[in-house]
Amino acid sequence: MHLRCRSSIALTSDVYDFLAALPDGQYQLPRHVGCDLQDEHDRDHTGFLQSVGEAEETAWWLAWDDVAGTHALVQVPYCCDDCVSVDACLLPEGHPGRHSSELTTVLTLPADRVLVG
Ligand SMILES: [Zn+2]
Ligand SMILES: [Zn+2]
Repeated sequence: MHLRCRSSIALTSDVYDFLAALPDGQYQLPRHVGCDLQDEHDRDHTGFLQSVGEAEETAWWLAWDDVAGTHALVQVPYCCDDCVSVDACLLPEGHPGRHSSELTTVLTLPADRVLVG
C-alpha cells in the first residue's frame, strides 16, 4: 500500500452552500475535507465532496493549494470506468499517483519490522 496525502481543509460557506443546493446529492456533505491523492503528489490537493444522481454520473471535488491559500470547486468524473466494482478507483479522472484502492491513511509496517515489547 501507499500512503495518502494528509492535507485537509475546511469548506468555505460559499462552497458548502453551492453543494447543498444541488438536487439529488448522494452523500452527507462534509464541513471539512481531506486530500484523497497519494502522498507527495505534485499538483493541487484534491478531496471528494459530493456526487449527483443515482449512478453518480457527476462528481464534485475541492482542489486547493495550501501554500497559495487558494481553492476551487471542480467537476470531474471518477477515474474508473466502472464504479460499482469493489476495487474501482474513487479519485478524479486524470489524478496523479496511485489509484485509491492502493492507498491507505495508515502506515502499516511489514510483520517482521514490528517491535514487540
Ligand atoms: Zn494532497
Ligand atoms: Zn485512479
